Amino acid sequence: MMPAIPEGGAYWLRDARVAACFLDSAVAPADREGLVRCDIRIEAGRIAAVAPQGSAPDGVDLRGGQVWPGFVDGHTHLDKGHIWPRAANPDGTFLGALTTVFEDREKNWSAEDIRARFEFGLACSYAHGTVAIRTHLDTYFPHAPTTWRVFAELRDQWAGKIELQASSISVMDRMATEEGVMIADLVARHGGVLGGVSRLSGGVHDELPPDFQPMLDRLFELAEERGLGLDLHIDESGETGARALREVALTAIRRKFKQPIQCGHCCSLSMQPEAFARETIQAVADAGISIIVLPMCNMYLQDRVPGRTPRWRGVTLVHELRNAGVRVSVASDNCRDPFYAYGDHDMVEVFREATRILHLDHPFGDWPAAASRRPAEALGLPHRGRIAPGMPADLVLFSARFMTELLSRPQSDRIVLRAGRRLDATLPDWRELDAVVGLAPATSG
Ligand SMILES: [Zn+2]
Repeated sequence: MMPAIPEGGAYWLRDARVAACFLDSAVAPADREGLVRCDIRIEAGRIAAVAPQGSAPDGVDLRGGQVWPGFVDGHTHLDKGHIWPRAANPDGTFLGALTTVFEDREKNWSAEDIRARFEFGLACSYAHGTVAIRTHLDTYFPHAPTTWRVFAELRDQWAGKIELQASSISVMDRMATEEGVMIADLVARHGGVLGGVSRLSGGVHDELPPDFQPMLDRLFELAEERGLGLDLHIDESGETGARALREVALTAIRRKFKQPIQCGHCCSLSMQPEAFARETIQAVADAGISIIVLPMCNMYLQDRVPGRTPRWRGVTLVHELRNAGVRVSVASDNCRDPFYAYGDHDMVEVFREATRILHLDHPFGDWPAAASRRPAEALGLPHRGRIAPGMPADLVLFSARFMTELLSRPQSDRIVLRAGRRLDATLPDWRELDAVVGLAPATSG
């Protein structure tokens, strides 16, 4: 039984378990799983105090249940989400995803279409307890201004519920043309982040082309001229020739790039020779680049050959990166589109799957931070991902006490608090999108 939450005002959450990586001060020693028992004071929608367990004279008794800060989903694609029913990936491969999305974008992506699917994704995220999202937006002309306008409208409409950021995504060769200037200007006008993907039009992530470096420098230049941060899709394959990550890091160092850089995927790093991987990781650490890992999507896409069992998990070297001091986050990536057939914008699922795929356990250490605090840092949101005095009381309460309880069920009975009040949000019905995605309208009865 989950406890009743007071309708606002001041109260204590008693007998909570909080991962030490979410706390600013050590109120008590952490247990083997990195969890600290404590009481949390809520006042006027904010966290007023975090005290050792037993400090609270009264309040909501959580009976040892875990409390997490609201989730930060630092890498999503809300513009292409949920097109699966009308645009299924024919064979589940990366190339199948590229071509299917391209055709669907050309044919179907009106403002109304993008808005309906984008909002569906936001509603799922919100109900699951996510407080901030960065979405990538396919940014190609002539469609790009429409997509960015829809994003800007939804960013305003959802302010106070979900903090929304956007990054462009377009291939390297396009960014090096006049279109690159138009894209960078569009991004700057909307307060976005400049994105890119380390492959060329129509290509996949393999050998870097001979003119890769000038294209990469041009991308940096476009960002520098406008003071934009960078968010790049890097080396999303198992090809050892895909080694853009090292070049991005060395370029950032050489240019003394000032703005934050986040790199997603970086799958092929785990297929590189040890010495090369080590050198790359050191360069990433020196450049201060944040890495974001998309374990569900990459396990789905990578090493997929019809009729053959996958031998590789498709993910990057998260432990080695973190040990080198690199900030590592996990995120949803695609949901129900040709890049990933499944997903519900649920960071609990992402953390659960990430733990299993990447062995983020025994010890868990500060890995829970990868679903909230680390992406909050990478996205420049210092008020997110922490449970500390002064932070908003945007929390997720679980009945689960231990990690083995948290990661063994979907946690569908979690309680989401926003500004200290219980959020009354339910997941949207998939049928709401039927007309949008080309399914016959649901029949009543
Ligand atoms: Zn992505």
